[in-house]
Amino acid sequence: MSRFGDATRQAERYRVGRVLLAGDAAHIHPPTGGQGLNLGVQDAFNLGWKLAAAINGWAPEGLLDSYHAERHPVGARVLDNTRTQITLLGTDPGATALRELFSKLMDFEEVNR
Ligand SMILES: Cc1cc2nc3c(=O)[nH]c(=O)nc-3n(C[C@H](O)[C@H](O)[C@H](O)COP(=O)(O)OP(=O)(O)OC[C@H]3O[C@@H](n4cnc5c(N)ncnc54)[C@H](O)[C@@H]3O)c2cc1C
Repeated sequence: MSRFGDATRQAERYRVGRVLLAGDAAHIHPPTGGQGLNLGVQDAFNLGWKLAAAINGWAPEGLLDSYHAERHPVGARVLDNTRTQITLLGTDPGATALRELFSKLMDFEEVNR
């Protein structure tokens, strides 16, 4: 059993000094498209070796800050993607019209791809 809402939030900064955020602590969004876990794992993949480099003393200047610079824009794009999907799932007349338009557009192979 699980529950979820349509909250969409992203931390403004993934690093403040010794505090680093990854996964759902850095970004949450509705589960449409099943992207949350993968997004968080890729945060950790980006951050893990940089932390090891810092701890072992061979990290160049700015390496830890590159974590935010590289991963924050990716998170923002995923949040925009799920916002779009949630809008398309809506039941109000505007969302219904938008869904019908998208359905027609999907008849074009280029759009569908
Ligand atoms: C219904 C639903 C379906 C989903 N489907 C998919 C899917 O198909 N594909 C996909 O990629 N993602 C999916 N997700 C998203 C995915 O589950 C999350 O993005 C992922 O689990 C986040 O992992 P996390 O480790 O960052 O955070 P969490 O899984 O939230 O882990 C944080 C952990 O920290 C613990 N914790 C909190 N506070 C403290 C504290 N003070 N001290 C110690 N421990 C603490 C919590 O108990 C928890 O165990 C779905 C989410 C939902 C809700």
